[in-house]
Amino acid sequence: MTITTDMPCVNRCVRKGTETNDEPELLVARHGEFCHRCFTRTFRALDRVPALVQHIVSNFPTSITKAPNDIRVSGTGGGPTVPFNEQAWVDADKLYSLMVTYAQVWATALAVSPPAPARRSWRDEHGYVIGLPANETPTTARRNVGVMSDWLKITLEEIFRCDAESVNRFSEALAEVGEIAGKWPTEERPRTSVMPHVQISFCGGEIKYWPAGSQGTDTHAVCTACSYEFDLDEYEDAVTTYLAEKQEAARMAKAEAAAATRAANRSDVVRRHLLGKYGEIVGSPS
Ligand SMILES: [Zn+2]
Ligand SMILES: [Zn+2]
Repeated sequence: MTITTDMPCVNRCVRKGTETNDEPELLVARHGEFCHRCFTRTFRALDRVPALVQHIVSNFPTSITKAPNDIRVSGTGGGPTVPFNEQAWVDADKLYSLMVTYAQVWATALAVSPPAPARRSWRDEHGYVIGLPANETPTTARRNVGVMSDWLKITLEEIFRCDAESVNRFSEALAEVGEIAGKWPTEERPRTSVMPHVQISFCGGEIKYWPAGSQGTDTHAVCTACSYEFDLDEYEDAVTTYLAEKQEAARMAKAEAAAATRAANRSDVVRRHLLGKYGEIVGSPS
């Protein structure tokens, strides 16, 4: 008596090309109650996450600008009005939160300890995952997210033997990975850096950089004027310093403008006071 060995997939998936047949061929459950197609779809989504996160984070203006006073809460963005870089934050945060959430969901379900980055994740006072930790570089973002997606991949067979409804919820949530990937094509085209080549005083050339994670190149950023090549760490370092200095200069300029306004107001007060006291005498001749 062999009855239960060839159960169909719980999602009643059918072999491609047989959909319109009188009797479409049901795929067999190979991973828990699921067919191989359901399993690999989920596996592939997880597999894409680290490189995708790295790629998106490399579109942040720089890794440092997500400073504590400039925190974006995930899920507040979306829609066409969100500026380019802010959309990058929103999307990277979504992927990060997805990994943290499900690493914990399945660790709890399987009564094992979740991977370290999921335990250390950045949360608000209510315990909600906020998003990628501040100061994340493309490389560290890839590594941290990768630890969680790797853990989910390694554990995926066990996960698929859990309650089918929960597994389906997980797989459906991961559909977002494909949607986000569609928004951030990893083409080989370089982008223009926010930083001109200021490290050599006579240059000032435009710098083109390749988002981290793009293939076939070790060169990360090149000055189009003098052909100077930055490597990854050097470039990230340079942009960080450059933007910090710019921020400081802007702060100084603002302070100076405020001081000038105060001084102007003061002299205005003096002038009005004198006018009030001496009337026409102080005024300019008409
Ligand atoms: Zn299936
Ligand atoms: Zn240059």
